[in-house]
Amino acid sequence: MYRKRKINERLDSFYSLRFPFHALAKSKHRYETVVGIGGNVGDVRRRFERLFVVLQKDKRVSLVKTSLILKNPPFGYKNQDDFFNSILVLKTSMQPKVFLCYLLRLEKKFGRRRSFANAPRTLDLDIIFFDNRKINTKDLIVPHPFYAQRESVVIPLAGVGI
Ligand code: ADP
Ligand code: MG
Repeated sequence: MYRKRKINERLDSFYSLRFPFHALAKSKHRYETVVGIGGNVGDVRRRFERLFVVLQKDKRVSLVKTSLILKNPPFGYKNQDDFFNSILVLKTSMQPKVFLCYLLRLEKKFGRRRSFANAPRTLDLDIIFFDNRKINTKDLIVPHPFYAQRESVVIPLAGVGI
């Protein structure tokens, strides 16, 4: 189901039918947003595939592109399994705060429990960009403050042409 390609000693990339993906139809939704997805508990790649199907069925969003899946070592709290990460480019007409709540609900649906910072997780959904907006509130910072330093974001991003 997956083709695997080794990037270097630490990093592997995986390719499937849905990752990477490019939509053919144009969406009527207003805003384009880039979402980073990640996880390191259980079968994360299978969870990504299920997430893709859920998003594809949901009229409130439309999938524009996805990237390859990157397997990479944890940062911060290192005593945990490697992470799988990917990027989704979505269109939506939701406002950023509403879209963040939507993502947090999806995390819950996929079994996320919050414990401590950088802890193991089933599914993490982060807004990397939201159109060209700059947002700096208590609950939401866009562009995501650390994305440029994280290979888990930068490598998949390069593949979707951002
Ligand atoms: P992290 O993704 O940094 O590991 P969490 O997923 O636990 O941490 O997110 C904690 C909080 O981060 C969320 O409840 C949300 O309010 C906040 N947050 C701030 N900026 C963003 C963003 N750009 N995308 C997603 N969450 C964000
Ligand atoms: Mg998060």
